[in-house]
Amino acid sequence: MQDKILNGRALSRIVEAEVNEQAGRLCQEFGRLPKLVVILVGDDPASSVYVRNKELSAERAGILHETIRMPKDSSEADLLAAVAELNADDSVDGILVQLPLPKGINADKVIEAISPEKDVDGFHPISMGRLLAGLDGLAPCTPSGIMEILDHYGIDLKGKKAVVVGRSNIVGKPAALMLLKADATVVCTHSRTVDLAAETKEADVLVVAAGRPNMIKKEMIKPGCVLIDVGIHKTENGLCGDVDPECYEAAAFYTPVPGGVGPMTVACLIRNTLKAYELRNRR
Ligand code: NAD
Repeated sequence: MQDKILNGRALSRIVEAEVNEQAGRLCQEFGRLPKLVVILVGDDPASSVYVRNKELSAERAGILHETIRMPKDSSEADLLAAVAELNADDSVDGILVQLPLPKGINADKVIEAISPEKDVDGFHPISMGRLLAGLDGLAPCTPSGIMEILDHYGIDLKGKKAVVVGRSNIVGKPAALMLLKADATVVCTHSRTVDLAAETKEADVLVVAAGRPNMIKKEMIKPGCVLIDVGIHKTENGLCGDVDPECYEAAAFYTPVPGGVGPMTVACLIRNTLKAYELRNRR
């Protein structure tokens, strides 16, 4: 089974080492290191873990980072003011507002307030529009990480049937666009899809981002397919994904949970920060 694992954690360390090398080189040219600022509103335990992972990755990659912690009763106006300050701060290259936000704060409004040049999460409508148009830009991190895994392991996508489960702006929709750009034939399924198994059974590459623990069962997949599991859930027995491990035997390759897509999401965030820094400095 070991040789079927698409090891996102190992690949993330390679990406971080590349960022480290490039950041060091560009620092000599631009006189400072790239800097990522994360805003965390409230004390959601899962969000705190994700933010810590981002800090650790930034440290491994040798870039500067800061986490601004705001109380959970912060208003939308407080958050917009914090974003505006970071937009105006020339020493800040990447701004990330950790989602989800407490009730009463409109996440779309906050995302739109981030300067597109510093939108390292890639969720701003301008970043999404560039992705849709096939233009270079700051692309969302989770689907970027997925594409990097597929590329690193030499998984050919040309003409292959790729099925995405989920259509969120964060994962499903941009993943479908990236797979399409890589010449796969793409089907994007969602909670209203009538016969999900009929779709997933056709997939050469199955990307699952539904947020439903172990929902993909072995009878729902095509033998020899590639399984990319984006889901992450805390259960009594530890972490699990959206793909039931019973599927691994029939698959050609799969991403484990943990250690698959998660670490690559973070590494792509750090790489986006380097990219934002270089683009702003070369402007
Ligand atoms: P979301 O809730 O915003 O979207 C879920 C999508 O799945 C929706 O489009 C919905 O239509 C679809 N869906 C739900 N139930 C379905 C069903 N039964 N059949 C078909 N489609 C169904 O979630 P999200 O933000 O896209 O995240 C999805 C999962 O990925 C979550 O578990 C989240 O924690 C995880 N996640 C992991 C990473 C990572 O780095 N590993 C990053 C982002 C999200």
